[in-house]
Amino acid sequence: MLDIQHIEVGVEGKKILRDFSLSIPNGEVHVIMGPNGVGKSTLSSTITGKAGYAVSQGKMLFEGKDLTGISPEVRARMGIFLAMQHPIEIPGVSTAEVLRMSLNEIRTYRGEERLDPFDFVELLESKLDQVGLSREYMQRFFNDGFSGGEKKRNEVLQMLLLEPKLCILDEIDSGLDIDSVKLIGETIQKMKHADRSFLLITHYPRLLEYLEVDKVHVMTGGRIVTSGGIELAHQLEKEGYDQITMQAS
Ligand code: ADP
Ligand code: MG
Repeated sequence: MLDIQHIEVGVEGKKILRDFSLSIPNGEVHVIMGPNGVGKSTLSSTITGKAGYAVSQGKMLFEGKDLTGISPEVRARMGIFLAMQHPIEIPGVSTAEVLRMSLNEIRTYRGEERLDPFDFVELLESKLDQVGLSREYMQRFFNDGFSGGEKKRNEVLQMLLLEPKLCILDEIDSGLDIDSVKLIGETIQKMKHADRSFLLITHYPRLLEYLEVDKVHVMTGGRIVTSGGIELAHQLEKEGYDQITMQAS
C-alpha cells in the first residue's frame, strides 16, 4: 500500500525527516510513537503532499505509483486520507456540505454517481452513531466551535464516509475522553479491511487495546529507530523513550 524509501524532507530550510523508510502492506495497521517534535506530523504532511513538505531525496510509492508531483487533492482522490492532529475550521460552510462535497469528489474519481443531498443525508445519518456525533453538528459550520474531542470524531466520520485505502490518523486520541477512545478504537477496528491500511500516530497504548496492531515503530530524530509488536507500546509506556532510543542508537 505504502512504500517509503530513504526520504529526506526539509521544512523552512530545516531537515526534519532523514533517511526515513517505512513500508505498510495492504490490510495492516502500523503505529508510530515518539517524543514531541521528532517529525511524526511532518511525515503525515509529506505523505498527503502538503505544500512546503517537499521530498528532496528518496521516493514514496502508493500502490506502486510514485507520488512525486501529485497534488494533495489527487492523492486524496486516490485514497490517501489524513485525520489531522489539529483539524481545521471552515466557518461559513456547514459540516454536512463539506462532507458531501468531499465524498462526491472522490466518487467522481472512482467513476461512481454523485450523491444528491437527500441520499447523502441518509448515508451520513447511518454513520453518526459510530462516532458519537448527533445530527445537530452536521448543520453547524465545519468544526466551528467544536470541542477538541468533537473535531476528532468529525475526522473519523470523514474516514467512515470516504472509505480511504490508506488512513493516517495523527493523534486521533488526543483530546478524547476514555469512552470516546474506546468508541473510536472500535470504529477503526471495524474499518479494517484487506485492501485498507492504517498509519496511527499516538502517544498512548490505550487506543491500541481496541485494535489488532501489526507493527509499532518508534521514531526519533526524523527516522524510525526501532520496530516491534504491540509489546513495544507497553514497554514505552513503562520505561519512556530514553531507554529504547539509547538502545537503538
Ligand atoms: P511531531 O508531530 O513529531 O511532534 P512535527 O512533525 O510536528 O513533530 O515537527 C517536527 C519539527 O519540524 C519541529 O521542530 C517543528 O517545529 C518543525 N516544523 C514542522 N512543520 C514546520 C513548519 N511548517 N515550519 C517550521 N517548522 C516546522
Ligand atoms: Mg505531531
